[in-house]
Amino acid sequence: MTDHSFNPFKMAQDQFDAVAEKLGLDDGTREFLRTPNREYHFNISVRMDDGSYKVFKGFRCQHNDARGPAKGGIRFHPQETVDTVRALSMWMTWKTAVVDIPLGGGKGGVICDPHNLSLREQEAICRGWVRQIAPNIGPLQDVPAPDVMTNGQHMLWMLDEYEKISGGRYPGFITGKPVGMGGSLGRTEATGYGAVYCLREALIEKGVDVKNTTASIQGFGNVSRYAIELYTQYGGKVIAVASWDNSEKKAYTFKKESGINRDELLGITNKFGEIDKTKAAAMGYEILDGNAWIQQDVDILIPAAMENQVNAETAPMIKDTVKVILEGANGPTTPEADEIIKEKGILMIPDFLANAGGVTCSYFEQVQCNTNYFWPKEEVLTKLDEKMTAAYKAVSKTAKDQNVYMRDAAYIISIARVAEACKMRGWV
Ligand code: GLU
Repeated sequence: MTDHSFNPFKMAQDQFDAVAEKLGLDDGTREFLRTPNREYHFNISVRMDDGSYKVFKGFRCQHNDARGPAKGGIRFHPQETVDTVRALSMWMTWKTAVVDIPLGGGKGGVICDPHNLSLREQEAICRGWVRQIAPNIGPLQDVPAPDVMTNGQHMLWMLDEYEKISGGRYPGFITGKPVGMGGSLGRTEATGYGAVYCLREALIEKGVDVKNTTASIQGFGNVSRYAIELYTQYGGKVIAVASWDNSEKKAYTFKKESGINRDELLGITNKFGEIDKTKAAAMGYEILDGNAWIQQDVDILIPAAMENQVNAETAPMIKDTVKVILEGANGPTTPEADEIIKEKGILMIPDFLANAGGVTCSYFEQVQCNTNYFWPKEEVLTKLDEKMTAAYKAVSKTAKDQNVYMRDAAYIISIARVAEACKMRGWV
C-alpha cells in the first residue's frame, strides 16, 4: 500500500500552492509559508541496555510562529524522514489556525522503532532529544506533544529533562502530560472525540441520522479508539477496523458485520495498537487484508493511521455507499485521491480540521497549567466541542459560499489567518 516515491512535504506544498494561487497571495508570503521557518537536525547518542552506544537522528521543524509559539507532536517511527516532519509541521500551522487558537505549527521526530527499544532506552532518547534542542524550544517558543508511538510518559521524561536544564518548574514546556502531572482531563480522548464532533455536524448538515450509519476505520491507536467510543455512543456502528501487524510488517482488517466491540478488541491489542489475529478470529472476527477497510459498504470511512493511505491505488476501491471521509490521521489522502473523492461527491472532513481536537485540548492544558487550576473533564469536553463545532461550521460555510472542496476551504481560512499574522508582524 505504500508508495515509496511519496513525499509528504511535496504534497503539503502542492496543497498550499493551489490555495495560495486561489487567494492571490503575493510571492514573498508564498515563499515564506511554503517551507518551515526553522529546522533542527541532530544526533542523539544513547547507551543501549547491552552497553553499546547507538546514534538516533532527531528533528524539530518550526514551520510558523506568527500566531503564537510553534506547537506540535514528536513522532517515534523507523520510517521517519525530515520531509515528513516538515510536512507535519506545516499542517500543524494550518491546524492551530483553523481552530483559531493562539499557537503556530511545529513537529518533531526521531528515527527509531519503539518496538525494539526498552523503556529505559526510550527514556534515554527522550532526554537526549531535549538536551539537543532545549535552547531552541520552550513554553514561549515551541511546545511539543505526543504523536505516533509517543505518549504521556515520554512527555514527562522530556519535561523532567527540560526542568533539570532550566532549574525550575515549567509545565508549559510540553503538553499531553499525564493527568495529575500537569495534564488535562480529556486530552487522551480529545483527538478522536474532536473528529466525531465534526462528523456529527456533517451528518446533521446532510440530514443523515447517525444512528442509521456504519463506519470502517483504519488504525486502532489513540485517535481511532476514542473516535469509535464517541461515534458508538452517538448510535453509529463500526463494522471494520484495520490494524498493523509489526511481526509480519503488514496490516489486516478485522470485520464484524454486526458491529465490532471496541473494548473486546482492546483486550487483545498490544500497546502499539496491534490486534492479535488468532484471538480475534476466535472471537468471530473476519480477518481480511490491509486494504479491506476502504472497500466496505459503509457510510463513513475514517483513515486514522498514517499518511498516504488513501491514494491513486486505493481511492478507486471506495464504495458508492460512502458519504463522508473523516481524516483522523495527518495527510492520509494524496492529491490524486482527492480528485477521485471529489468526483464521487463524498464529503471530505480534512485532517487538519478533523484531528485538531488534540492540539485544541493541548491549548486547554496550557491554559490550565498557566493558572495552575484544573478543570473537570466535562468542562474540557464542552469547550472542545464548542471549538470544533465552530471550526467545522466555518469551513463548511466557506466551502459552500465559495463552492470549493472542504480541504481547500479549510486551507483558505488557515492560510488567510497565518498570512495576516505574518503581515501584521511585518515579516512579509
Ligand atoms: N500530535 C498531535 C497532532 O498532530 C497533537 C499536537 C499537539 O497537541 O500539540 O495534532
